[in-house]
Amino acid sequence: MKIAVAGLALESASFLPGETGVETFERNALRGPDLVDGLRGSSSVGGGFVEVLEAEGAEVVPLVYTDCSAAGHASDDAYQTFRDEIVGGLAMADDLDGVLIFLHGAMTTPGLTDPETDLLRALRAAVGPTLPVMLAVDLHANLAPETADLVTGLFGFHYSPHTDMVETGRRAARCLVATVKGEIAPVMAFRKVPLVLPSIFTATGLAPLSDIVAAGFDWETREPAILDVSIQCGFAYADVPEIGFSVTVVADGDRAAAGRAADALARDILDRRAALLHDDLVFGLAEGLDRAVDLAGRGERPVVVLEHADRMNDSTWVLAGLIARRVPRAYVPYLWDPQSAAAAVAALAAMAAGGAGALVDLRLGGHSSNRAGGALPVRARVLWAGDKTFTGTGPMRAGRRIDLGPSALLDVDGVLVSVTSHSTTAIDLDSVTQFGLDLADLDLVVLRSKTHFRAVFEPLAAEIIIVDTPDWGPADLRTLPYQHVREGVYPITP
Ligand SMILES: [Zn+2]
Repeated sequence: MKIAVAGLALESASFLPGETGVETFERNALRGPDLVDGLRGSSSVGGGFVEVLEAEGAEVVPLVYTDCSAAGHASDDAYQTFRDEIVGGLAMADDLDGVLIFLHGAMTTPGLTDPETDLLRALRAAVGPTLPVMLAVDLHANLAPETADLVTGLFGFHYSPHTDMVETGRRAARCLVATVKGEIAPVMAFRKVPLVLPSIFTATGLAPLSDIVAAGFDWETREPAILDVSIQCGFAYADVPEIGFSVTVVADGDRAAAGRAADALARDILDRRAALLHDDLVFGLAEGLDRAVDLAGRGERPVVVLEHADRMNDSTWVLAGLIARRVPRAYVPYLWDPQSAAAAVAALAAMAAGGAGALVDLRLGGHSSNRAGGALPVRARVLWAGDKTFTGTGPMRAGRRIDLGPSALLDVDGVLVSVTSHSTTAIDLDSVTQFGLDLADLDLVVLRSKTHFRAVFEPLAAEIIIVDTPDWGPADLRTLPYQHVREGVYPITP
């Protein structure tokens, strides 16, 4: 059995001004034998692909696999370069039995609102209409009906935090193997639901979303022909026609059973839209900080303050509030600011050479957009500075090489801040321990993750306080200047 493997992933908050270029995709890219070696055992979708294919004794045809996590648009050039590499590789491969591909499902470019469907059209043209192609996508995919039509089977993450990326890869790969062997004949039902949630409320542990996910599993148990059910919540910060929820059901030959399940789940999601939007869980900035400081002062610690609206890990709204209040034992991990990191590295080097010492004046953070809170003029003490790369240990990054680039740990009026040169979202304890800190010593930690942090911090935090800031990822979607969203999507164009 000869199976091609590819991956191209970026979650695009399309209102952000920056673009993710070829060099960022390249930095994360795996090819050739490195693709198999790099994915094997990793906590990624591709790790699940490789595990099942190797257990089956299948020959893996490695194309290219690159996952850039979340940022703004991919550049048109970057997208086209990697699309052409994947499609060109498929056109060159002889005697393929199938394709496994991972696409996020919410990538955008300045020129395209749905590059993934564009890629799958080109992929189909290269491999023909009948070759089995199994697609794995993120829970935050904004999928079009055409996307589902272009593939043989479609498999989304069940959970956010995405603790089942490997399992999603396995589900797609097992289905492909059984299809190639002629054991099953997959058919699909796909339904769009005219609803989208801010990412913060796509945590699948929150009711009623948890009930809806469970209802998907019930359909797999109840109807023997149903092989796989996945619910995509969509990604609210991509301004695209197909924004929002979809339901995908894969069945063995029984299109009617798949349709019944998809219709019932889609109806249930729409019926519960008011509860899914949780407008009771978000604090204003000052109100949230007051509550955090009060809790920490009463020994309830650590408090997690979630600056969730930040999309680029550099917003300064909460940091400014902490500095102004001189909150002790507060920590802001992974603030993205290459200039400040470089200045800190230089200051420490100057001190080692007998220079001015490790105090440095910075314009800290807030560079990524006009909504990021602005750069803070601060005088910081450099506690550590240098290149920071390590092997991830958290549930979503275990075994993965994390490269933060030149980085520093700063003391800014008593608030600890780690700055990085590569934008990376803090989701696990590596963001604390890699800078020599201990969560037990901290009263307050500022995170910017939407749901992934919950896998680690939910059991450890005294409380998670969600604060809304004016960034490009707010809880109230009606404040964003959408242009491409189709009519009738609640709450944007109801
Ligand atoms: Zn996601």
